[in-house]
Amino acid sequence: MIPRFSLVRPHTLDEALAAFEATGGDAAYLAGGTELLQVMKLGFAQIGTLIDVKRVPDLKGIERRPDGWLRLGAAVTHREIERSELVRHELPALAGLELHLANARVRNAGTIGGNLAFAEPHSDPATFLLACGATVLLASPSGRRELPIDEFVVGPLFTAREADEVMISVQVPPAAAGEGRSYDKLAFFERPAASVAVRLTVRDGAITAATVAVGSVGPVPALVAGAAEALLGADAGGDGLEAAVTAASGALADIEAEADLNGSADYKRHLAAVLLRRAVAAAIREAQADA
Ligand SMILES: Cc1cc2nc3c(=O)[nH]c(=O)nc-3n(C[C@H](O)[C@H](O)[C@H](O)COP(=O)(O)OP(=O)(O)OC[C@H]3O[C@@H](n4cnc5c(N)ncnc54)[C@H](O)[C@@H]3O)c2cc1C
Repeated sequence: MIPRFSLVRPHTLDEALAAFEATGGDAAYLAGGTELLQVMKLGFAQIGTLIDVKRVPDLKGIERRPDGWLRLGAAVTHREIERSELVRHELPALAGLELHLANARVRNAGTIGGNLAFAEPHSDPATFLLACGATVLLASPSGRRELPIDEFVVGPLFTAREADEVMISVQVPPAAAGEGRSYDKLAFFERPAASVAVRLTVRDGAITAATVAVGSVGPVPALVAGAAEALLGADAGGDGLEAAVTAASGALADIEAEADLNGSADYKRHLAAVLLRRAVAAAIREAQADA
């Protein structure tokens, strides 16, 4: 049974922030509740007041900003992202990721903000958004701040967000010319066993920029600089690509990994190496389609 709590349903951001302050801190923001209500039901958290932020207009909507960045309101559900024509067009790998996240019930209720704020190590969006260079925008009574994903997610179930800060939105930079972004995962149970996101640029047939992120393997989604460096300069369509991808996979041998229900640390590193190969191929396809 869920312990008793008060529910506040603000209609504006100011009302949400004021409602939190009025509790003296015995409060939490609630979105889809797919994580938070479960945590309370299991007795891991007892919270006096839940502040439901789903109706706050500042947290809604998906749009392209005038500077080209894609803005996702924190209270946008996985389903809304999956179905958004704008996301499908601008960031198809994110729409695809959302289609294969959890189950239809979780996708209908769960939000992108709740997913990132909960910082579950097996989050799909956190790994992909990390590779994309995305940021989160937070608001508190003392002002606003914007953090890149790697500064926001600091540990398993632990973020840089202060308890009174509301996440307003997630921002994703536009693709550069010749850029491809991809995400791939393996899942044996409900959440990924391992995942890899790749962002790379192909110019004149060669990979000129690369970012690799690995998720669900260690305690937090992590950028793997060695893997990205191994891809640089490779001929995107030629024989050199195989050697570069093999070297990039080799760079995953040292990443921080933790055994869990999905397998040993070494097995999860192995899964990541397999996924990297697939993710690089998908990112190159997207980059070349853009050329
Ligand atoms: C069965 C199951 C399977 C799942 N499978 C996957 C999977 O395959 N991949 C994956 O990535 N995820 C998976 N999830 C996790 C799912 O994505 C998240 O549960 C969902 O996105 C969380 O969003 P929510 O709106 O329900 O968050 P809530 O449960 O409402 O909140 C989660 C946390 O975020 C805080 N919070 C929420 N919104 C805000 C905000 N705007 N500002 C500040 N703090 C906020 C809350 O206080 C709480 O601490 C799964 C969950 C379940 C239950």
